Amino acid sequence: MGDIPDSHPRKDSLLARAKLTEAAAEGLLAESAMIAHGRGEAFDYLLGEKTSESASQAIRETAARLLNAERPVISLNGNTTVLAGEQAIRAAAILECPVEVNIYYRTPARMEKLISSLKEIRERVAKEEAPSAWEGSQWSDSVNSIEILGANADGRIEGLEGPRAICSSRGIEAADAVLVPLEDGDRCEALIALGKQVLVIDLNPLSRTARMAHVTIVDEVGRAMTKLCQALSENPLVSHWDNDQALRDALAIMAEASNQI
Ligand code: ATP
Repeated sequence: MGDIPDSHPRKDSLLARAKLTEAAAEGLLAESAMIAHGRGEAFDYLLGEKTSESASQAIRETAARLLNAERPVISLNGNTTVLAGEQAIRAAAILECPVEVNIYYRTPARMEKLISSLKEIRERVAKEEAPSAWEGSQWSDSVNSIEILGANADGRIEGLEGPRAICSSRGIEAADAVLVPLEDGDRCEALIALGKQVLVIDLNPLSRTARMAHVTIVDEVGRAMTKLCQALSENPLVSHWDNDQALRDALAIMAEASNQI
């Protein structure tokens, strides 16, 4: 991974691929993970692989709604853990909320590997320099006290059948706001039907998830989660959010890409 020069125009994309390939070899990902990533990459190419002004506003709105929630939770699947696990742990420390591993193709082995990976990340982040506005020890205490949920399948997402309905009773089941990067459409719909605030990150502005969520950040998950941590420290306020406009903004940027030819 270290061999890619900084000047390489696809450096971030190649690093993401390398991380996912490594994680797949270690058994952290489902077989379809690469296909999902490939679909995301194609949209990111059209977005110019950068966070748009519209996506930045969605990030601020998401931060505001998470800060406003009584019981926020960050739901993590395999790809998100690999590409943005560190950022998710930082965000959970700022929000003082749990993270929950919740995967579409649930197997005990993958759950265990993802949870151990997050525990290692938590240990690493606790030793990092504290963000401004945090005392060093206060930061490491907050990071160390993040609950990593998911192993105990004692909750249910009403409205879904089979293993996909499984969640933690102290996490997603009890939450009033859920940040679910890369969620699938059915679960997004079920969470909304339960009255929760559903905040998603999805590079495809036309996916069912993107269209159903209360706030959709159309951006790459690693970039978006880094910017979300910054936004959480700035205490933004909840607004009257027009999510369809955010999706139209993303599609307009993609359509403009044709002007480059
Ligand atoms: P839906 O059920 O919502 O219509 P889908 O079936 O298209 O979605 P999935 O395969 O469940 O989607 O999930 C992949 C989604 O995640 C795609 O919409 C893809 O664009 C998006 N995606 C993949 N990788 C990333 C990434 N790194 N950052 C942000 N979004 C991503």
